[in-house]
Amino acid sequence: MPEGHIIHRLARELRSTLGTRPVEASSPQGRFASGASLIDGERLLDAEAWGKYLFAEFSGAQTLHIHLGLIGKLRRRPPDLPAGDTIRLRLSGGGVCWDLIGPARCDLISPTDRDEIIAGLGPDPLRRAARPEQMRERIRHSAAPIGALLLDQRVVAGIGNVYRAEILFTCGIDPHRPGRSLSEDELTLIWEETVRLMRIGRRLGRIVTTDPAEIGRPSGRMRDDERLYVYHREHCRRCGSRIETTSLGGRRIEHCPNHQR
Ligand SMILES: [Zn+2]
Repeated sequence: MPEGHIIHRLARELRSTLGTRPVEASSPQGRFASGASLIDGERLLDAEAWGKYLFAEFSGAQTLHIHLGLIGKLRRRPPDLPAGDTIRLRLSGGGVCWDLIGPARCDLISPTDRDEIIAGLGPDPLRRAARPEQMRERIRHSAAPIGALLLDQRVVAGIGNVYRAEILFTCGIDPHRPGRSLSEDELTLIWEETVRLMRIGRRLGRIVTTDPAEIGRPSGRMRDDERLYVYHREHCRRCGSRIETTSLGGRRIEHCPNHQR
């Protein structure tokens, strides 16, 4: 599942490629035909991410809401590519074409719906005005394991399975610890590491958590087997300990028993 850094990149790319001109919208698959007809010919006024949710504001007072879910993709493609019948929504303009395939959600919503979705989400570490205090408060009062809490979008918005494992590694925190057992310093560290690592991800378009000093290569030039410490690895990339794998929040999580006690 794409994590928040990808949704923020998509919002920025939609703004820069489609902004200001009228957009052609269609639903080659047909499942979003009536929605597409309402934004066809309108201009994209803004696109923004909140966690894993993407909101695109069009002239004509239309708000498009997209959640990619587990298998959805929003991809920029050459405009002359034939539209296959898997494309829920195609947006094109200015020689650019965006195809949305397999989203969990794609609908037009009211400003009230949008506010309700956002009200249900925790702070997004990639938004400038994010308030980490909300996240801290929810973790402080929870007996749930921190590994599960970081995946809960009501606690913090945008973290997925890769980031939660890697953030807890760089913080040196065992994912099984109850939220309420974390110290104030640890809560501060989790937020700071989340912001730092997700900003790198947004800049590069992929998740890289390894410290460049350990590899001798900048983050943007690391190979796939160098860029993470614990996620989907057999051995900790820092100390070589055997990675422990458990299930938290309904998904598999890895941690290093040496670095995360
Ligand atoms: Zn280790």
